Amino acid sequence: MAELWKGAPVAAALTERLCGQAERLRARGISPTLAIVRVGERSEDLSYERGACKRCEMIGISVKHFILPVNCTQEELLTVIRRINEDGAIHGCLLFRPLPRHLDEAAVCAALSPVKDVDGITSGSLASVFSGDGQGYPPCTAQACLELLDYYGFEPTGRRAVVVGRSLVIGRPAAMLLLNRNATVTICHTKTADLEGTCRNAEILVAAAGRAKMLDKRFVGQNAVVIDVGINVDAAGHLVGDVDFAAAEAVVGAVTPVPGGVGAVTTSVLARHVLDAAAKSADISL
Ligand code: NAP
Repeated sequence: MAELWKGAPVAAALTERLCGQAERLRARGISPTLAIVRVGERSEDLSYERGACKRCEMIGISVKHFILPVNCTQEELLTVIRRINEDGAIHGCLLFRPLPRHLDEAAVCAALSPVKDVDGITSGSLASVFSGDGQGYPPCTAQACLELLDYYGFEPTGRRAVVVGRSLVIGRPAAMLLLNRNATVTICHTKTADLEGTCRNAEILVAAAGRAKMLDKRFVGQNAVVIDVGINVDAAGHLVGDVDFAAAEAVVGAVTPVPGGVGAVTTSVLARHVLDAAAKSADISL
């Protein structure tokens, strides 16, 4: 039976460390602050926002909300982003995406100051993830995959890692973070010829396709570590991952649950990025 890699202990360990960092910043007169920008009332955004606020409150990070109606204009949204850029009391910005179709998402992301980009949405941050120079912040969900490996003591160096999904939000940055940690990485997508065999050969399998229970027992190898990023609703209305959990559990070495796996770690990574940005803004080392 596989080890169950829950996110909660990982988040708790990170949170404990971050509480101390936030306290040190406050002692130096800095109140670490996150801006949350939300357009409309999508339930996924609201649920993530609640989690992020709770985590920030636990750690001692203030949150400023910028909520716009779903029919807001590009200029209204850009005005908010510019205000955040200019506000020295705000250290990081979380923008919920995808934006409504009438808005130019690429232009909005590009408008955010790279130093406040705590969720890897600007091309500068992504370039940094790709170059591995450690300057910009990676997308929090991609980084959460690495946090799970580290917490549970699985060293990526020299391992065969397979990432299913090539989005700029998860698949590609997760692959680059694994590569930066010396894994040998394969990225799979809808045109991959032998998805089954490629996945089965993985020692680390990161599933980020957004397809409910798509990776069943044919896709997982014995003793593999399976990190399930997918969040899907199955036919019965249950929240499930991309991995067929019951099938994988019988075969693999370790697997993250959905819910309660990667998603539980993401807000702690976000908080860490905000504290780091706050420290950098004041030239303080944490
Ligand atoms: P996305 O933009 O839709 O990208 C999905 C990727 O998976 C694409 O690259 C696609 O390939 C690939 N893919 C889809 N079906 C496939 C198949 N049958 N075989 C092989 N590859 C396939 O999704 P995303 O934004 O990256 O999100 C992925 C999942 O993560 C979603 O379930 C989302 O809800 C979840 N998520 C989780 C968290 C968290 O905190 N845990 C946070 C954000 C998102 P092509 O490029 O060829 O189309």
